[in-house]
Amino acid sequence: MRCRICGSPRLRLVKQGAGQGELRSDDFAITDARYGQTLPIYACDACGFLQCPDVEGLLRYYEGLQDPDYEKGRPQRTLQARMLLGRMLSIAGDSGQGKTLLDVGAGSGILVQAAREMGFDALGVEPSRWLQGIAASAEIPVICGTIDDLPGDALFDAIMAVDVVEHVDDPMGLLRACVSRLRPGGLLAVVTPDRGSVVARLMGWRWWHYRIAHVNYFNRVTLDMALRGAGLTPIQYTRPGWRFPLDYLLQRLGAYIPPRFIPVPGFARRITVPLNLLDSLMAVAMRRES
Ligand SMILES: [Zn+2]
Repeated sequence: MRCRICGSPRLRLVKQGAGQGELRSDDFAITDARYGQTLPIYACDACGFLQCPDVEGLLRYYEGLQDPDYEKGRPQRTLQARMLLGRMLSIAGDSGQGKTLLDVGAGSGILVQAAREMGFDALGVEPSRWLQGIAASAEIPVICGTIDDLPGDALFDAIMAVDVVEHVDDPMGLLRACVSRLRPGGLLAVVTPDRGSVVARLMGWRWWHYRIAHVNYFNRVTLDMALRGAGLTPIQYTRPGWRFPLDYLLQRLGAYIPPRFIPVPGFARRITVPLNLLDSLMAVAMRRES
């Protein structure tokens, strides 16, 4: 067992797994609200990276994943995608017009659709057959599979990996695959929860990003190390906020407060709440010229 980021064998168990028994695709739902329930977490004594190393073949759970609650937040997730794309473009100092973009872990194609509306020639890859099917039925170009299944050898101007690196059993392999699909000088944007954030430290193991689907926990230092190790030069780190329907947020509060104390009025679905707990990191990094 070696650290997924620095390769050190000095891994130490810091959190027992919750007795979830046999894993199923449902355990990996994007909208899973069993915060604090995780697989066994190990810390690397060399670099501090937290990881769940004793799980293999994660991909098959994502292939079978269905998550109807995720689709309900589509309008809010579209606003989110536009904001992330805008942030990347502001670094490129350019418009999306005519640029090629790949979205890794594209879900139902929300970001791909937003990028196309901004002028990008955008394409996604998504392992969940169910999510990819939603994109396909809306005629959004999302291929079923991972970045390794992408046909041809085209290089992209930009690649987005939003909330992906915390889900895979080989994050360095994923980042290197992204680099191999990026033109020299092209940009990779990575968004992932930050376990070094103030909120994460205050909440300890009850932080909402501690969940079964997350098998890697980055902070600014380990994310930087991973990007550089994959052949990228980090350019900017920011903390993106999110937008949620009010009813979704109120239901999520039920993980912390007894639900009978939380009224969820019918109109709450139509209200969008911007929320920035500053506990996610967005890194934009450039592929080094080689
Ligand atoms: Zn390490």
